[in-house]
Amino acid sequence: MQTNFSLISLGCARTLVDSEAMVQSIQSVGFTMVPEGTKEDVTVLNTCSFIQAAIEETEDNIQLLIDRKNKNEIKYVCVVGCYPSRFKESQLKEKYPDVDLWCSTKDEATLHKRMAEMVFNRKFTPETPKRYTKISPSHYAYLKISEGCDNWCTFCTIPKIRGKHTSKSIESIRHDAQLQMAMGAKELVMIAEDTTAWGEDIYGKPCLETLIEGLADLDAWIRLMYIFPSRVTDRLIDAMANTPNIIPYIDIPIQHVNSTMLSQMNRRHDKAFLETIIKKMKAAIPNLAIRTTFICGFPGETDDHVTEICDFLDEFQIDHIGCFTYSPERETRANKMDGQVPLDVAKQRLDRIMTHHHHQRGERQLKRLGDTIQVLYEGNRHCRSVYEAPDVDNCIILNQAPTSTNPGDFITVKLTGVSGIDFTAEVVG
Ligand code: SF4
Repeated sequence: MQTNFSLISLGCARTLVDSEAMVQSIQSVGFTMVPEGTKEDVTVLNTCSFIQAAIEETEDNIQLLIDRKNKNEIKYVCVVGCYPSRFKESQLKEKYPDVDLWCSTKDEATLHKRMAEMVFNRKFTPETPKRYTKISPSHYAYLKISEGCDNWCTFCTIPKIRGKHTSKSIESIRHDAQLQMAMGAKELVMIAEDTTAWGEDIYGKPCLETLIEGLADLDAWIRLMYIFPSRVTDRLIDAMANTPNIIPYIDIPIQHVNSTMLSQMNRRHDKAFLETIIKKMKAAIPNLAIRTTFICGFPGETDDHVTEICDFLDEFQIDHIGCFTYSPERETRANKMDGQVPLDVAKQRLDRIMTHHHHQRGERQLKRLGDTIQVLYEGNRHCRSVYEAPDVDNCIILNQAPTSTNPGDFITVKLTGVSGIDFTAEVVG
């Protein structure tokens, strides 16, 4: 009889990439993947824990799995990833004695062997899985180019959870890209904790441009995410602008624009530097779409600092933004700083920034109506162009489902309207 497992992936795209790798290795030792909730033998929960809200979501999910185990709906519960990396295993075992296996990010490579030993009571010789099982859509894929982070932003727990920055080799990244393209990926979304740190541990200096040039022959859109501003150089901008498969979109989480806040966050640049690189990127890359994120309520922040963010949005017309309230995390330096901002004030500032952005963005969207653009069809009338990233940005919704078009096909559409934050469109080719 086959032994089944399911996997639940919480958190960001980086965790999703790890989850997909786990699925292959778990299958290689004799388990069969089934959807969650189908009386599986083992459920693996891949977790997030970088802020308190993520910890709470993880703990809610652990409790749900323990409840299912107590009802005999599953036999084993395995909790892996960031949550067990942040806490001592002895504490976790005491808190959740019904969890059968804890596995931190640094031990993820051995998860499948430990599961085999736990369930089958004997060692298994790994076989090559017969076929790669994707748990994300086939028409795009996340390409994780490095692990860990050495930046130590003062609010962030990730360097502690994920460890030192380690780049994958160009050969390994090309192999991952070609595997995903063979399964239908038309778009490769390059991710890491900080993509611009790529190469530092291999070549002695960060050189994302070398990687970009090393992937230039791949016939897919390549979308760059998680750009760390202080590592943007003229050479990198040049490579982004002149490599045809690098699409005109960047995700550059800037977190703040005020120089004092940036210094307190240990972001290693000031406002003038930020403005300079954004101007250079916009000048070098026609119609560049920019996505960024802001933290509201960092210690010492004032209303004037928030006005600076709104003025920055006016000047640079940022296309997509995400805003988060600052989360005080006990292991971080920011947690010990003076001037902690009450959560309700941080929330008001977040609302102020998002309202400002949505007003601006709505005006810009109206100016684009009538444009004809190429889009990637995602199914169920949804599409994206180069200007929208999967999972995080708005999308383009077709007025009518196209005939003979499958997810992953490129089609040409005309933007006809706006619905909420999305565009509506009609197929023209
Ligand atoms: S660059 Fe990102 S992952 Fe690294 S410390 Fe800063 S916020 Fe955290």
